[in-house]
Parts: sequence; structure tokens; C-alpha cells
Amino acid sequence: MCFSAGYISVSFGEVNRLQNSQNGRRRRNGSDSAENRKKGKYTGYLRLVAWTLVLAAVIISADAIRRQASHPEGNGGLSVFVDRTGEKEPSGTDETSEPESVPAEAMPYEKKEINEDDFRPVVKTRADLSLGELVMVNRANSYNFPNISAHMVKIASEMDGKSYKVSYNTLQLQKEATDAFNRMMADFYDVFGSGDVTVVTAAVTYQEQNESYRPPAADAVLLENESQMAPGFSEHHTGYAVDLKLVSSEGKISAYDGTGNYKWINDNCYKYGFILRYPNSKEAVTGVAGTPSHLRYVGVPHSYIIRENGFALEEYMTDLKKYIHGYEHLYYSVFGYDYEIYFVPADEAETVVPVPKNEDYSVSGNNCDGFIVTITRKSEELKNEELMNQAAQNQEPAQTGEDGQPLITEVTQEGVQVTDMPAGVTAAESQASPAVPAAEQTVTDTGER
Ligand SMILES: [Zn+2]
Repeated sequence: MCFSAGYISVSFGEVNRLQNSQNGRRRRNGSDSAENRKKGKYTGYLRLVAWTLVLAAVIISADAIRRQASHPEGNGGLSVFVDRTGEKEPSGTDETSEPESVPAEAMPYEKKEINEDDFRPVVKTRADLSLGELVMVNRANSYNFPNISAHMVKIASEMDGKSYKVSYNTLQLQKEATDAFNRMMADFYDVFGSGDVTVVTAAVTYQEQNESYRPPAADAVLLENESQMAPGFSEHHTGYAVDLKLVSSEGKISAYDGTGNYKWINDNCYKYGFILRYPNSKEAVTGVAGTPSHLRYVGVPHSYIIRENGFALEEYMTDLKKYIHGYEHLYYSVFGYDYEIYFVPADEAETVVPVPKNEDYSVSGNNCDGFIVTITRKSEELKNEELMNQAAQNQEPAQTGEDGQPLITEVTQEGVQVTDMPAGVTAAESQASPAVPAAEQTVTDTGER
């Protein structure tokens, strides 16, 4: 239960109450029929009714057992599922919408034929559980502080110096989060020409959180701000989160609320691998008051899946646990890449994580009890497109110079749109474009030993 941020327990409580009431009904029925038998003066008709009730109770109980058995990872009655049709209204930025309540069994959970020859084992330690872009830290799930210094960069030495600011030159962030943030802010600047957005918090040490810690009231239901997070329980420890403010060219400081021009950032951040970690609509799940100024990097495709399903990170992490390696995996396609995602539960000391032998992948811990493997493949469409481009390049070498390239992307107020694939651009180059943010096309096996 290290995923619960305190509030999920409300829905588990409801499930428990429901099950208790079913059990109560079953007990009552059972004692009724016993009394009937004891007294022996009821008609056959009443006996029939009693036995029908007993049968119904048995069916209800068998159904409850079946539901529990089909979800051994204990996601309880959390009513979330991944909509692979992608037709559901994205609710990541819609503060009024609530997640659809779909029974857990709507998600098939089937044993899957796996060709083990396609996989090789890598060994992960307990410390590795706290490495990777999908680590989750909340009030119930503290961070274990593995050494992440090799993955960290100073934002100030990576930024372009015009599209946003930092409040301190010492602010550090994970490298891939920094790169993605730079791409997003460069696109934002192209559209609005404003460089007022300022990163005021990035990675935070235990000591820093301890110094700013302002404990909430003992009976506080929501954390009103991040200084109320006890040291060790802030996701800023991971180096994947930023807090934003606005600082004008005259030095005027104001809050970042994600409205006006800045709505573009909160609406489009998922295209760069970021999510709004504490949406207003998910306060009951995260246990933290809605915070539009706090962005969290989780990487593509996870940011897309989270947004399309209106998940909080807690809900996505719970949902992912259904896709255990060897059972049905989760598939998602975006920007010409097909992703396959699966979960590997952690063992006590070391965990053998199967990873593909011949494909690009990344492994992330969930900071609790398992590892998430994300395999990245070029889609058939993208492969064909590249082949055609290559053929065109071979036929007309004179026309494929740098200047004649068609546009890859168009950045507008509505967001980033892929308009064309440039001739002769390799996958590695296109990956660096804003259209393909943060897709881990190379092996980025965090914590690989
Ligand atoms: Zn924050």
C-alpha cells in the first residue's frame, strides 16, 4: 500500500464497506435458513426461498473471490482503466471532470505467450527502485535517496537564456527532464515571445526540505503547499519536478497559475513528457491541494497515457501493476513510435527484470515495489517513411541539402503539430526535434549495473 497518498484509502474503505455489507447479508441468510431447518414447520415453498437466497449468497461470494483473484496486485476497487481507443475526452486539464467509474474487471488480465528468447535478464537492487522517471513519491511513499548525481545537470548551464529564467544558478534537475523542459519552453517562446516563466524550485535535498518544512495541522486533510511535505516525502527529491513563478523583465514577481498565455504550457506539457502532478480534480487522490505551478517529468509515452485517461500519477502507477510481464502488456503509439509497457514486481533483495535483447527500452523503478519496462519501437509507418525518404535521397542527391528540408513541426498556440517528416533525417535527428519529445529511443536503463 505504499502507493496510497492517504486519500485513496477512502475508496478502498468504500469497497470494504460494500463487501462487509455483502458478507452481512450472507450471514443473515445463512442463519435464517438454519432456523428454518431447526423449527421444521415451514412449508416447502419457504425452504425453496431460503435455499435460493443461500445460492445467491454463494454466487455473490464466488464473484467477490473471482474479482480479488483476478487482480492479485491489490488494486482493490480503484476504478481506473487504460482506454486504448484514445477516444475518451482527455481530462488532464479539465478540472471539473471525474474519472469514469469502470469495474476493475473491464481490464482483461490474461496470461500471454512470451518468447523468452527475446528477453535477457538484468538484475536490479532495492536502491534501483528509486531510480527512473516513473518513481512516485507522496505522503505514503518516501524517497530512498539513491545517488542520482550522475543524472543531474545545472539548469542554468543547459538553458538558452531567453525562453525562461531560473531563480538560482545552482538549481539542478535530471538531464532528460531538463532537455524536455528546454524544448517545451523554446516552443512556448516561439509562440508568445515571453521569457517570464521562472523555475524557482527544482531538485531539493533532504536538508533543504527539512529547513523549509512547515508541518500541517495534525488533522489536515490536504497539504496546502509543498513546504508541508515532511523531508523525504517531497517529489522534488527525485530531480524530476519543477515549480514555476513569473518574473517580468522589470523584476516583478507573480504567481504562476497556468492561465492566460501560460495555459499553453499546462495544456501542452504532456507532449514533452510532463504532467501536472497535483491537479485540482485529483486532490482526493494526491492528498495535495491543486498546484498548477508544479510540473513533473514522467517521459513519453507515460505523460500521454496519464493525460488521456485523466489519471493522477498514483492511479497510473496502480493501473500499471496489472501489466505484469508474462501477462497482457500495455501498448501505446505516438509520434511514429510503438511502445510496449510492462511491470515486474520487486523481490526482497534483488529483482531479475526481463528486458528485450534487441530493442530499445528503459527501466524505471516505481519507488515502492516494482519496475516498469518501456520498450520503444519504430512503427511500420515510420519505417516505411524512412525507407521512402532514403530512396528519394538516393535518386535525387542534389535536392536533399539542408536548406530544402520541409518543416518537421509547427508550433502554434494550439500546440505542437507534426506537419511533415524531413527527407533524409534519421530517427536520431528527428528525436531531437520538439515533435518527438523525450522518447527514449536509446537504451536508458537507469541504474543498469
Ligand atoms: Zn513543487
